[in-house]
Amino acid sequence: MTGGSGVRLVLVGPPGAGKGTQAQLLKERLGVEHVSSGDLFRHHLSNGTELGELARAYMDRGELVPDEITIGMVIDHVDQIADAAGFMLDGFPRNTTQAEALESALQQRGQRIDRVVHIQVADDELIRRLSNRYVCRSCQRPYSRDSVTGAPPARCVDCPDGGDIYQRDDDTEEAVANRLSVYQQETAPVLEFYRQRGLLADVPGERPIDAVHDSVLRVLGVADAGAVSRS
Ligand SMILES: [Zn+2]
Repeated sequence: MTGGSGVRLVLVGPPGAGKGTQAQLLKERLGVEHVSSGDLFRHHLSNGTELGELARAYMDRGELVPDEITIGMVIDHVDQIADAAGFMLDGFPRNTTQAEALESALQQRGQRIDRVVHIQVADDELIRRLSNRYVCRSCQRPYSRDSVTGAPPARCVDCPDGGDIYQRDDDTEEAVANRLSVYQQETAPVLEFYRQRGLLADVPGERPIDAVHDSVLRVLGVADAGAVSRS
């Protein structure tokens, strides 16, 4: 990390790894701006910006939004962040084309990504976490499986008629396994891209939130106040 400027991070992790929680903790701890590609998309679409309209045209045709539009949204936003603040990218880059575009855009500004934090959780654990989600058909109250019986409750406690509790199609074990496999295929080349540059830091995510947070701070070279003394 260079003096006077904030840290520039990429945060990577599969669905269910607790990436959102870690992003929030890092934002509070380091004061970096959290740049979520999903939020950026929603912003551009709802404000009808030029990039938003371009993206919508593809989405309306059921096509994937081309990389240059996504890259444009992220670079445009990163440009507005003060040098001293630093940022944490979430959901971007999704492929090596995006990673290369980010690298060259930052290079033109005399900047670079300092670290890529990869939160690792085994597939069977992710499937266990993600497929443990049930909702009431009437009021949408969320439920999970009982730790003793291994089954979700039969009826909703909030609904007077005892609403039916079910699992959405997206949350079944099979659907979750499929989502994870798509994620792995998409992410592996991006991880390799950053591994080759010596920027990738794998952080084991199957631990309590605070322990994962401490590990993330350690790989960023940020001394954990109280636990680590400055040398
Ligand atoms: Zn209900």
